Order: sequence, then structure tokens, then C-alpha cells
Amino acid sequence: MNYDVIVIGSGPGGYVAAIRASQLGLKTAVVERESLGGICLNWGCIPTKALLKSAQVFEYLNHAADYGITIEGQGVVDFGAVIKRSRGVADGMSKGVQFLMKKNKIDVIYGFGKLKGKGTVEVKAADGTVAEHQAKHIILATGGRSRELPNLKQDGVKVIGYRQAMNLPKQPKSIVVVGSGAIGIEFAYFYNSIGTKVTVVEFLGDIVPLEDEEVSKQLNRSLKKQGINIMTNSTVESVDTSGELCKVSVKTATGVEILEAEVVLSAIGISTNLEGIGLEETGVKFDKGKVLVDDYYRTNVEGIYAIGDIVKGQALAHVASAEGITCVEKIAGLHVDPINYNNIPGCTYCSPEVASVGYTEKAAREAGYEIKIGKFPFSASGKASAAGAKEGFVKVIFDAKYGEFLGAHMIGFNVTEMIAEVVTARKLETTGHDVIKTIHPHPTMSEAIMEAAADAYGEVIHL
Ligand SMILES: Cc1cc2nc3c(=O)[nH]c(=O)nc-3n(C[C@H](O)[C@H](O)[C@H](O)COP(=O)(O)OP(=O)(O)OC[C@H]3O[C@@H](n4cnc5c(N)ncnc54)[C@H](O)[C@@H]3O)c2cc1C
Repeated sequence: MNYDVIVIGSGPGGYVAAIRASQLGLKTAVVERESLGGICLNWGCIPTKALLKSAQVFEYLNHAADYGITIEGQGVVDFGAVIKRSRGVADGMSKGVQFLMKKNKIDVIYGFGKLKGKGTVEVKAADGTVAEHQAKHIILATGGRSRELPNLKQDGVKVIGYRQAMNLPKQPKSIVVVGSGAIGIEFAYFYNSIGTKVTVVEFLGDIVPLEDEEVSKQLNRSLKKQGINIMTNSTVESVDTSGELCKVSVKTATGVEILEAEVVLSAIGISTNLEGIGLEETGVKFDKGKVLVDDYYRTNVEGIYAIGDIVKGQALAHVASAEGITCVEKIAGLHVDPINYNNIPGCTYCSPEVASVGYTEKAAREAGYEIKIGKFPFSASGKASAAGAKEGFVKVIFDAKYGEFLGAHMIGFNVTEMIAEVVTARKLETTGHDVIKTIHPHPTMSEAIMEAAADAYGEVIHL
């Protein structure tokens, strides 16, 4: 079969690229070795959010009295049912992609895809049969897997990665989470909420180290208050799994501590799936686990492209999708602007949630900007008071000279739903005063963005 486009990998990079290609009239196929939807739908974004929803419901039950509701007896977590719900949500989403493939007349070829010379993809199916398919354009979107460190080898039972962490046969009594990026923190929050004893070990000085310092510190305080033990400036040196409990040797600023836990979750990032896909044979250049591409995701070999987690840039689902669309639109000959990687929102879905976009205060200063900063705490927000969600704040950063919206950093209830406003504002080159003059509905959490902007210019009303 001859195609215009074959995409290898059906994650949010691959399946979205395929749909856009089909919309643009290109005959398209997707090759997938596992389940449609990739990590995002099956083992990442979606199932974790389903778990976090269960944790949130449990928290609401435990705090029902704060809202004037009396519950007879105590809520109990049925861990198996929580996991089953999460897997069901993931399966449903994967089936949704199956439907979208059919609707867009995209062929799905199941098996392991490999580049085989110019314009050819070899696919080895699960039963061992091998077939070759031709395409003018081949897009690699093979994604990643949990990264392993030599001193933190995963056995899948006691030392686990994110796949096992969202599908354990029983709730562990204790867990050590190594790494405090979004994935580590989401699991730490989930397990702590449902009653597991959680310790987070972070090599750097702050948790969620990519976030603005003030947000990291606030989250650290909040999670500690919830009962999570957080160790920053600490490194896991080794894990002894020979006993019933794992013994985790952690080097801290003051010496070595031994932690005991049923399970150790390694959440130190991802490795990319570049092995065996024919990069070396076809001469596609890659470096430090990332395929090298230009602004339109073209590799050094004509007709071969790469998108998503396997290229440089934030390893996020919405980034992978945007790259897929940009790549395919360029292939189809449309005029398309390169992606602005400084306007990508990042979210962590613990409670309180964290969301941000653009420059942190530190990065803005380092980039040489003279800045104006505004901050609005949710404790001063009417909606937050009504919702019982007064924790957290919105912090905004503007260029003092031209009013450019440089960044926003939020921590609090539902802020992951609020950040898109700032992404749009920045995309439209909105200034601080434009934000102040944009009338927000009352009462909403989003008013805090307008108030924070007003604070930056000495015009805040409710502080
Ligand atoms: C626990 C967890 C939570 C996350 N939460 C979020 C979140 O909330 N928001 C967010 O934006 N991002 C989140 N991410 C990151 C997000 O999942 C990834 O950035 C995203 O899935 C990357 O998309 P992709 O298309 O590049 O690759 P993937 O989603 O990894 O998909 C790659 C696909 O390619 C297939 N494949 C690989 N090699 C081959 C081959 N040779 N032949 C055929 N098929 C192949 C794989 O089976 C897979 O289906 C999370 C990740 C994890 C692990």
C-alpha cells in the first residue's frame, strides 16, 4: 500500500498528526505496537487524572463537615476499584482514538514500525509476520518510557516506574517517590491522599523545580501539611530490595539516611524509544536521546520527520500534538509559524494544583528584563472563599518597559483550567493594562489573574 504519510506511534503526537494529515487530503496510516493513544491516553495524562479524581472525592468526603455535610461512618478507599476505574477511563479514551482513525479514514497497522530505506516502513506484527509499506513522508512519534538509573534499577514489583504505579495489585502502606517533577508529585499526592505513607526525594533544592520559586515553596508547605515527607537536596544512592521492605539509602546535606518503604517509585523522567527504529540504518541524526529536527520537525534525511517526546522541547502531550499539526501542515504546503516553546503551559494536577507559562521571575531577570510583578492570593477571592479553596495565589510578571506579559505562575484550586487565559493573552501579545481592562466574570477564580495584573501596576482592588 502506498501512502502520503505514515506515522510511527499513535500517541498525542502521532494520532493528532495523522488526523490533521487526513483532513488536509493526505492518504495516511498509523503504525502502533501497543494501544492507540500512546502513553498519554493509556499510561500517562488520562489514567493519572482519573486516579487523582478518586483522591479528590475521598478528600471531599473527609472534609464534608467543612461544608456543613455530615457523613455517617467513614469513607473507605477500595483501591482495586479506584485502579479499575482509571483503567476503564484509559480504555475508553483509546477506543475513542480507534473511532477517530476510522472516521478520518486512517489505516491503523498494528506492529513494531521501523524505517527501512527511503520511503519505506517495515512493520513486524505480534505474530512475527513482516510487511513493508511505502510513504512519501514518514513521521516518527515513538514517545518515551520511564527512565532508569543504574542505582535505581526497576524490577517492576518493588522498584517501579509510572506504569506499575498506576496499576498496583494492592495499595502499598508506604512508598518512596524519587523525583519531584509533575509525575512524581502527582503520584505522591495520590498515594498520600488515600492513606499511604509517602516520602519524596528530590536531588535539587526545591520540588517541582521547573516552577517559579515561590510556587515550589508554597507547594512544599502544602504537601508537608498534608503529611508528605519531602527531602530536597537529597539523592538516592542505592536500594536494597532483599528484605520485605525496601531499604533506600538517601544522601542528604547532613549525612546518609535509610528510608524503609514497601515500594520505590522512580519518577526521574523519561528515556526515548529510539532503539530498533532504523535511525542508524537510514542516517537520521540524533543526540542525547533526541532526534535532531528543524523548526518544522524535518530530520536531516528528506522525507523523515520526528515529533513529540523524541525531539527537544517539553515532554508534554499538548506539545506533541502541536508539533504533529505543525509538521503535517508544512508537509501539505500551508503557511505555518514555528511553535513558540516559551508559550507552553505546564500543569501539575495535585491539590493544590500548579500551572504556569512563560518566564519564571528568576528566568526573566536572567534574560535581562526589568520586570513588574503582581500577586493575588486566593484568600482574598470571593469564589475561593465560597469554594473552601483559599490556599494559593496567582503571580504575574510583566516587562516594565513595554508591558509585555512575560509569565504567570499559579497554585490553587482549578488553576490548571485557568492558565489557558494567559497562554492566549501572551499569544495575542497582550499587555498588563489589557489584562486589567479585560472584564472577568464574578465570582470566579480567574478574577485573580486580573487582580494580580492590577497589583503589578498598583491598581489592585481587593487587597
Ligand atoms: C504518568 C504520566 C503522566 C503524564 N501526565 C501528563 C499530563 O498531565 N499532561 C501532559 O501534557 N503530559 C503528560 N505526560 C506526558 C505525555 O504523556 C507525553 O508527553 C506524551 O504522551 C508524548 O506523546 P508522544 O506522541 O510523543 O508519545 P507517546 O504518547 O509516548 O506515544 C508513543 C507511541 O508510539 C508507540 N511506539 C513506540 N515505538 C514504536 C514502534 N517502533 N512501532 C510502533 N509503535 C511504536 C508506543 O507504543 C506509543 O503508543 C505524562 C506522562 C506520564 C508518564
